[in-house]
Amino acid sequence: MRRKLAAGNWKMNGTASALTELGNLAYSCKSAKAEVLICPPATLLYRAANVCVDSKVSIGAQDCHNATYGAHTGDLSAEMLHDAGATAVILGHSERRADHGETDETVRAKAKTAIAAGLTAIICVGETLNDREAGKTLDVVRAQLAGSLPDDTSGTTVVVAYEPVWAIGTGKVPTVEQIAEVHNDLRASLVKRFGGETANAIRLLYGGSVKAGNAKEIFAVAHVDGALVGGASLKAADFAPIVAALDASA
Ligand code: PEP
Repeated sequence: MRRKLAAGNWKMNGTASALTELGNLAYSCKSAKAEVLICPPATLLYRAANVCVDSKVSIGAQDCHNATYGAHTGDLSAEMLHDAGATAVILGHSERRADHGETDETVRAKAKTAIAAGLTAIICVGETLNDREAGKTLDVVRAQLAGSLPDDTSGTTVVVAYEPVWAIGTGKVPTVEQIAEVHNDLRASLVKRFGGETANAIRLLYGGSVKAGNAKEIFAVAHVDGALVGGASLKAADFAPIVAALDASA
């Protein structure tokens, strides 16, 4: 049985005052059955982890370097993030693929380092609007999955997030049929590569404009084990109902 996961990505938003919101979320989610994860900017990791001690909310990071240490000015290693209180790290988000030229190979290298440091790697894949309109969605997502997942992928080390690039921060959401098609295909690819037992333990999230108003229908789709949420994770009043919808779907 895969445990549901509601993960929030704060991106480059939030200073110390945002920790009040996190405290509110921890309070709202005190009876949550699903795993709840918030990935604030790295500057808040340590304080966020302290706010969430003894709560149902865990803290994650948004990226890490693929090296364990060394001359990489401005970068953070997976071990540093773990040391600051992170239990997971988002890797290969489309904004990093676009803004920093991250390739599947980079993402795989980062995932290996993250797993070695004890972090769960939340690996993002997803097609652009051009890919979808050209009928290439499954090909693109399969290639990203194959290239980005390390060989030591398992249900505890890796979570896969399907995030159509055109749905991120736009308010546009694929139909449930479109989500189902990709999630079924992801599961089939995982079975082919890792075998049924491992593949069926790996959680598949949907991400892209998830809100309280659409969460219920998205969580009803087979092989959707939760969500990766951007904008609607910034306020406890927006994110807590998404967590509640996930709990209700379990
Ligand atoms: C994201 O950035 O991963 C994301 C899903 O953003 P939003 O929920 O704002 O579309």
